[in-house]
Amino acid sequence: MIEIDQLAKTYTTRQHGDVKALTGVTLNVPDGAIQGIVGPSGAGKSTLLRCLNLLEQPTGGRIVLNGDDLTTLSSADLRAARRRIGTVFQHFELLHSRTVADNIGLPLELAKASDQERRDRIAELVELVGLQGRERSYPSQLSGGQQQRVGIARALAARPDVLLCDEPTSALDPATTSQILDLLVRVNRSLGVTIVLITHELAVVRRICTHAALLDHGRITESGPVVDLVTDA
Ligand code: ADP
Ligand code: ADP
Repeated sequence: MIEIDQLAKTYTTRQHGDVKALTGVTLNVPDGAIQGIVGPSGAGKSTLLRCLNLLEQPTGGRIVLNGDDLTTLSSADLRAARRRIGTVFQHFELLHSRTVADNIGLPLELAKASDQERRDRIAELVELVGLQGRERSYPSQLSGGQQQRVGIARALAARPDVLLCDEPTSALDPATTSQILDLLVRVNRSLGVTIVLITHELAVVRRICTHAALLDHGRITESGPVVDLVTDA
């Protein structure tokens, strides 16, 4: 379970003074959920995501992952905590000089896993995301959908508790979007990974999310199971 409690982030800028990107965001994400976070541009979605994947330090509040407060960790513990959270990006963020297999294995390399462990895990993940036969390809030789499959496999490599997805299908056409959303559901069900999915598209939420929260001007205006929130919308 992820407990986001009164999370706040204020950016101090030279041009605009203090910008309150998040003001008291409180949200509990149940284990095994696919939690959508929806909101217009500027709502604070990216800021929330960067607080959740520990790239940004919040200015207030707490994020508690399975009992551990992630906002008070030492830098050594922070490195370990980052492995518990995998991130899938809108523009995939693959390393273009590395093959599919080496992109997927990167988190395991950083975690100093043995070669054998890395090879076994890469083989499992390639199968999970349906990229058999493409292990030695380079990202530029793949379609957008295939590149996102690599991104998803890499995000899962270190067996995270949570998969954070930042607009994972915004760069993809509708047919490919469908396939990637199906893959995320399969990952959620087969591995039991909790998914937090940031999107500006209500259709994506309707299609796969179990829970949704609406973010606007740095605060959550509505949240709950998707059936209560968006079925009549
Ligand atoms: P969204 O992802 O929903 O578009 P963001 O989290 O990117 O929202 O932005 C929320 C607010 O915080 C906006 O007003 C944005 O301009 C501001 N903001 C985001 N990142 C920074 C930053 N690094 N420095 C200053 N202001 C920022
Ligand atoms: P998105 O909405 O997809 O996050 P943006 O264009 O809003 O894209 O932001 C791109 C990057 O610029 C993000 O890292 C964001 O935090 C940063 N950013 C957004 N607004 C500001 C701002 N006012 N000052 C500085 N950085 C900002």
